[in-house]
Amino acid sequence: MSEALCREGAAWVSAVTGTRWVGVIGLEVHAQLATNSKLFCSCEVRFGAPPNSLTCPVCTGQPGSLPVLNAAALGLAVRTALAVGADVAAESKFDRKHYFYCDIPKNYQISQYDRPFCTGGGIRLASGRFVRLTRIHLEEDAGKAIHDRGEHTLVDLNRAGVALIESVSEADLETPEEAVEYLEALKEIIRYAGAGEADMEKGQLRCDVNVSVRPEGEAWRTKVEIKNLNSFRHVREALEYEIPRQIEAYESGESARLPRQETRLFDASAGVTRTMRTKEEARDYRYFTEPDLPPITLTEAFVERQRGLLCELPQARRRRYREELGLSEYDARVLTGTREVADYFEAVARLCGRPKEAANWVANDLSRALADPEVAAGSIDELPVKPFDLAELIELVAAGTINTTGAREVLGLMVAGSGSPREIVAERGLEQVDDEASLEAWCREALEGREQVAADVRAGRTKAIGAVVGPVMKASGGKANPQRVREILLRLIAEDDQPRP
Ligand SMILES: [Zn+2]
Repeated sequence: MSEALCREGAAWVSAVTGTRWVGVIGLEVHAQLATNSKLFCSCEVRFGAPPNSLTCPVCTGQPGSLPVLNAAALGLAVRTALAVGADVAAESKFDRKHYFYCDIPKNYQISQYDRPFCTGGGIRLASGRFVRLTRIHLEEDAGKAIHDRGEHTLVDLNRAGVALIESVSEADLETPEEAVEYLEALKEIIRYAGAGEADMEKGQLRCDVNVSVRPEGEAWRTKVEIKNLNSFRHVREALEYEIPRQIEAYESGESARLPRQETRLFDASAGVTRTMRTKEEARDYRYFTEPDLPPITLTEAFVERQRGLLCELPQARRRRYREELGLSEYDARVLTGTREVADYFEAVARLCGRPKEAANWVANDLSRALADPEVAAGSIDELPVKPFDLAELIELVAAGTINTTGAREVLGLMVAGSGSPREIVAERGLEQVDDEASLEAWCREALEGREQVAADVRAGRTKAIGAVVGPVMKASGGKANPQRVREILLRLIAEDDQPRP
């Protein structure tokens, strides 16, 4: 961005003309559905298989082969539509979208054109802005073309025919930050709906961006499409480049520079977008109804069954965690990061009846264990610590059997698979020491030679006591009840202040 433009909230303000420009952004997101087989044949869907090993006459477009719709894909697509509050059409159909490229063996892609299975719905951002969805449609993926050092093009058709949903938003977004927030929310919904992993690294979520700019309050102008963005960072960076580029073109007044309807590609290493081709009109694809597939008819019973399979969605869960369980926004976010973590947390909270403690343990200590490469757990469900075990540990702390330090040690052993909390505590003798005589002996020892601490406490600076609590805990091998230690220390200091008889 040149010095002539500066960001002010959602606007880019020109230092030359004073015009406040805003972005107009719409997103088209392709998400791979988590089906075992492809959309129109029984070929397996698997990432990383040897090239062209997962193919058959249907997905390689052999003459005479016939597509058959995968009902599981339809179910996942409908579930996603319901999760974004969209209308699911009772009747929809497939169409052929024609274009020629080496990774598309039929020379057309089976997609949905004028009658998609889903219209409407949307996603609400944290700011309250509601981003409307135009539609979601089902389509098959293309294969992969790998251009080898500019000499050869290698084609892998393992991905050809894999089930995708394309979610098309209205141009309701204004900034790169909003675009990323929307994508994160959509990804979360797809995952919670169980429709797909939406893993960008595996190419399971890909995004095309439509973007134009306009002076605040004025009509829309020509939009540009940026294609094939495969990470959220690239979406943000491409918009951070493209929006000022368009504004500066308008501000320059040179007609040759004005944005035209075209497709651009984002060059991530240079951080710029470049013209790929002038935009095709829809008619260039020569859409027509797919003659080899019957129309899709969705019964109410089918749709309701999918609705029954939806769990509570992340936004609703976060609100409930904040309002009903009194958790912070941060904890609510961490706990709803994936559906597995959220379900796990809720199970622990239900079992021990202490949601705040459960939130702390799951969001902090357990999340750390999960991120530890040595633990090597792919998801929270793979940890040897089950919700019942963590609930038991929380109860042991609440009952005063062990202190928090001891509990952390126990959790570490639980993660390593050493048994239940009660077993570990008993085996390792980790029970908290509450015995008055031992505690007092350690406290007296710790106070020796620390007259300054006692003086500070007497002067009302009770925080100073912290300096003596540490040594007591150490002397006890970490097993002293810190609350009792504090009480005894204060009592000893107060007693010491009394005139001796
Ligand atoms: Zn196949």
